[in-house]
Amino acid sequence: MAAIGATPDGGVTRLALTAEERRAMDLVRGWMEEMGLETRRDAVGNLFGAWRPAGVQGAPVMTGSHVDSVPHGGRYDGTAGVVTALAAVRALQQAGHVPSRPIEIAVFTGEEASRFPVGLLGSTAVTRGLTEEELDRVDAGGVRLRDALPDPAGLDAARIPPGGVAAFLEVHIEQGRVLEDAGVPVGVVTGIAGPAFFRGWLRGAADHAGATPMPLRRDALAGAAEFVLAAEQIARSTGPTTVATVGWLRPHPGAGNVIPGLCEFSLDLRDIDLDTRDRAEAALREALAGIAARRGLEWGLEETHRVDPVTVPGWLVDVLERVAAEAGVPTIRLPSGAAHDAMMMARVAPSGMLFVRCRDGRSHTPEEYAAVEDLTAAADVLAGALAMLTAEEAVGASG
Ligand SMILES: [Zn+2]
Repeated sequence: MAAIGATPDGGVTRLALTAEERRAMDLVRGWMEEMGLETRRDAVGNLFGAWRPAGVQGAPVMTGSHVDSVPHGGRYDGTAGVVTALAAVRALQQAGHVPSRPIEIAVFTGEEASRFPVGLLGSTAVTRGLTEEELDRVDAGGVRLRDALPDPAGLDAARIPPGGVAAFLEVHIEQGRVLEDAGVPVGVVTGIAGPAFFRGWLRGAADHAGATPMPLRRDALAGAAEFVLAAEQIARSTGPTTVATVGWLRPHPGAGNVIPGLCEFSLDLRDIDLDTRDRAEAALREALAGIAARRGLEWGLEETHRVDPVTVPGWLVDVLERVAAEAGVPTIRLPSGAAHDAMMMARVAPSGMLFVRCRDGRSHTPEEYAAVEDLTAAADVLAGALAMLTAEEAVGASG
């Protein structure tokens, strides 16, 4: 897999809907067919491989991830979830497990928003559906998303119908340092943080930096600086899974001898719990309004993107922890700060995730690394969970 789209620095570049992603999908498809899975590719390019032994019917338990990457990305992001899915299903086949319902491996198209500005492309297409506006978005070369799809006319038919998937599981590298710090190979994800992105501004007066005494200033950048620190404090004090980031500040006019009369800024707020995120958002608005009032500034905070967080059902967390304990794999619970295909799949099926420890938490870089032993441990837990979920009358039985 790592040879497809390999970069000289040891990473990979496999962008959505390119020849590289297609070659990676074709390689996986070959492995699926060697395992006797029924394969198909849908209108958005998603690859599915179903293990459906004779006489086995019903909505499948699905597992998988993606094989596209960011430019100069790593070998494990996405691919780890596809390879562990293949390994888990093969282990079940070799162990003589007879599933009560099909087990289907999914390889979603374009999880990264690197080529087209639409993340979670394949999983969105089959769950929420793509909007006309999203289909009209273009890549850096001016290619429209709809023109890059294998079958844009077939998008409606590609949607997963209600009840079409019994449960979804995704293995993914953690992309953070929590597991490494805890010294455990595998994490059971309790929820996926929903992002709320904003563009904000503070407006004062641009005046001469030498001729304006301090009490007469209305410095927008100084106000924004205060807000950056307030955002940090609010995220720390709202909840253990709340994170808030001001990623850029744009002071105007941006001259060394002019008091900034306007400062624009970004705000990225996430939590796995919607009520907590709402409380943090209210506190952030209050803080911004307070700073503006004290400093005689005008302010604004406009939402640019908002996705609700996903809570993994408690019974599914229990299943994953129980099979991990049986397999002798130590785990801890943790939230996912990043978005994943499981987030979209949660709209149509109970969805859970396993995180794999990755070195120094590095990701989206060629230095990305997860040990084979840790990936194997995750595949063991996944196999156990798939077995439990495809035992007679399993899915949803405990909740
Ligand atoms: Zn990923």
